[in-house]
Formats: sequence, structure tokens, C-alpha cells
Amino acid sequence: MRLRLALLALLLMQVPAWAQEPKPEAPVCDRANFRVILDVGHSFQSGGALSARGVSEYEFNLGLATRIERELLDAGFAKTVVLVTEGKARPSLAARVAKANRMPAQLFLSIHHDSVPNWFLETWQYGGKERGFSDRFKGHSIFVSEDNSQLAASLMFARLLGNALKPNGMEYTPHYTKAFMRNRRRILVDAFSGVYRYDQLIVLRQINKPSVLLEAGSIINRDEELALATPEHRARISAAALDAVEKFCALRLPKNPELLARRQRKEAMPLEPR
Ligand SMILES: [Zn+2]
Repeated sequence: MRLRLALLALLLMQVPAWAQEPKPEAPVCDRANFRVILDVGHSFQSGGALSARGVSEYEFNLGLATRIERELLDAGFAKTVVLVTEGKARPSLAARVAKANRMPAQLFLSIHHDSVPNWFLETWQYGGKERGFSDRFKGHSIFVSEDNSQLAASLMFARLLGNALKPNGMEYTPHYTKAFMRNRRRILVDAFSGVYRYDQLIVLRQINKPSVLLEAGSIINRDEELALATPEHRARISAAALDAVEKFCALRLPKNPELLARRQRKEAMPLEPR
């Protein structure tokens, strides 16, 4: 008898699927219609920073951006594009912004790799040549501009990206807050996710969509340069980028038409006069 009662209690506890309360629909991302622009920092002609072993930053940026592209395409973000810009630094920057601003996209993510200001450079011999290096700092950092027209969304993605990198074993570098960075010092707006403000940066302020810049790590650091070139490390960053894009997409471009309409209504509302 007691056994039968226990069985009955067990059965009652397991409510069949058809009898369960319908859950409010969580926002699901419309991957097919969500476009991310993966901007490859610098150009072939103006390669950005030089690594401790003399490799241009552009090569690292291109390698990582195309790896993230593959991750997103495989996950169904079929409209993902990698933006490669040609030419010398200044004109290529203007061309990059103009092109990105003409493209329909919900997110602009600029991929870079970090170095140090000249006053930290030391020298060593590599490949028969004297080269600059600095092993002082390692880790990634994420930047947004307060002048971007979509600051709230930029910050949202930046935080999601920072949070997604953490469980993938990556720590951001806090050194940008330090006085020794002089004119390169930045304000840390989110100490948990590792998001800094870099208001003046052209690709952050002039892009007409949510815009975030990732410094994926320091290529002037001799150990980190080697790690950043490995497929395993790039795969970890790509997995984090996908995770952040999925979450951002669900909030920005939900599959549920009702949720999407509600969000669009909210965004169409005029700002309160200040
Ligand atoms: Zn760069």
C-alpha cells in the first residue's frame, strides 16, 4: 500500500508535457537575417603594429576575422561578412567607414591585436634581426565610443563579448587604466567584462551601427604572440564571439515578430528632451 502511494505521488509529480503551462516565448535569434560585419583592422599596405617576431598586425587580424567568420557561418549566420580594406592608413580608414555605413548590418566588430607604446619597447634578436618586444602586458581588451550613435547597443555587445571570453579562459588586461599609459590611458566602463571607452576612435564613433573593437591580445608579448597564432586559441575566441553574437541577436533581432515589433516601437520613440 505504502509503495503504491509512493508510486502515485511520483506519477503526480511528473506533469505530462501537454498539461504544462505554456512558457512565455524567450527571444530566439533570427540568424538568417542578422548581419555582422567583421572588420579586419588595418590593411595589407599599412599593417598596424609589428609583432615581437616581425609579423604585421594585419595578418593576425585577417586570420582571426576569417576564423570568426567561419564560426558564424557554420552556426547559420549566413550574412556574415569580413570587411578587408585596401590602401594606406588614413585614406583606407575613410573608405572603411564609408563602405561599412552603406552596408545593411546589425553589428560592426573590428578585429585588432595589441602592442605597447614605444616607451615600453625592449629589444631582442629574432630571425637574425633586432626586434622590439614587451612581455609586460598580456590579455585582450574591448572598446566602445560614447560618440557612437548606438552606444547602448554597442555597450551591450561589448559586455556580452567580454563575458563570453571569460569561461574560455581569457582575462582582459587592466593596464589601460594606469597612469603610465599617459595619453593612451582609457576609462574602464565595465570592470567585470573588461570594456573600455575609446571615444575618439574613428571606427567606433563614425560607424552608424552598434560598433565594438576587440584587441584580441598582445602580439608584442613574445609568449602571447605564439598563442594568438594557434588554431586552438583562435577557436576559443571564435566560440566566444559566436556566443556573444547569438545573445545579442536574440535581443536585437528576435525571431518572434511580436517581440521585434515591440523593440522597434520602443526604438522609434523620440528621446525625452533634456
Ligand atoms: Zn590595430
